[in-house]
Amino acid sequence: MASKRKLEFEDIVSVTEASDSASVHGVVTYLSPVKKSKKGSNYFNATVSDGKTTCRLVGFKDSQQKKLKEAMEKKETIIFEDCQVKKAKRGLDAMEILLKRTTSIAPSPKKFEVECSNDDDKLVLVEEVERKKEFETVSLNAKVVKVMDAITVNMGKKVQYVTLADSTSTVRCSLWEKDVGTLKEGKSYVFRALIVKEFDSKVYVSKGRDSSICEIDDIVDNVEFQEPEIESTHIKLARIVAVQELNKYRCCLSCKARVEPVMEGLGRCSKEDCQMLQKYDVCPEQVQAKLMFVSESKFISLYVYGKLLLDLAGRKDTDISEEILLQLPVFHSIEYNSQDVIIKFLPESTAV
Ligand SMILES: [Zn+2]
Repeated sequence: MASKRKLEFEDIVSVTEASDSASVHGVVTYLSPVKKSKKGSNYFNATVSDGKTTCRLVGFKDSQQKKLKEAMEKKETIIFEDCQVKKAKRGLDAMEILLKRTTSIAPSPKKFEVECSNDDDKLVLVEEVERKKEFETVSLNAKVVKVMDAITVNMGKKVQYVTLADSTSTVRCSLWEKDVGTLKEGKSYVFRALIVKEFDSKVYVSKGRDSSICEIDDIVDNVEFQEPEIESTHIKLARIVAVQELNKYRCCLSCKARVEPVMEGLGRCSKEDCQMLQKYDVCPEQVQAKLMFVSESKFISLYVYGKLLLDLAGRKDTDISEEILLQLPVFHSIEYNSQDVIIKFLPESTAV
């Protein structure tokens, strides 16, 4: 179990203890796009570094991913305030940083010099390499999963093939002459400006004159992503004392993200990779709220979405008002996850 104690980690090296409310300083050196887990929730992962060691980070909010992206582009040292630090499930003794919905990301007064930090060229996932054109250059974080014996090809040149992998795919990489024998199986590296080549209609990458390879901490991403364990917490005899947010919106017919009205009865999906234009009045209505509860004279703000909010308010439709929510009786118990999202509740009436 994570400790309830507030901890401040001055750098990544010191991130060795679990905490439910931690501050961590670091530089983002890798960032994935927002992905969908098997259970359908959005998440992204990243690597943060202090120049000496790295730590894996998992987040769930699109807006947090965007902030990290900006910071990574600027190579800025940032502070994650009120995040969770826990033991990584599969990473030996490694710790993992989990961003909560409330975790704030701000510039840190510290300035870490991070060697393998990203240049202007963007890191791509291994699966993206296949969609690149021949002779384009790519940079990626990958693990060497197979090293073949070097062979001698025409004009006596030596070449060695290695297989690179991340969580998305594998790709073959060729190393020539003096680079032969420089990569070790099981080690992870950041590869910069590799050249995309095609042979026999198979795409591979090759180390060219402008390419560079730098060893990094193990990327654990070559293992299939595991749903972060949702640890839930209860509050008993909880009463709503304030409605901090109550939003109604319409959701996309395709991806269920929020749809913004654009013109004459049309709406456009707000999700970057969807953007579908649709008839606004056909889109189903959805609700979300941020509610302040009091339980055992402590105040806590929790989020509740969609159908669960309707159930909580005892409504069949989305016709919910702040007044309705504030008039609800005391709840027997409210269960919420580490992201402060309500996952279950027990109304007073069923209390024994
Ligand atoms: Zn959509």
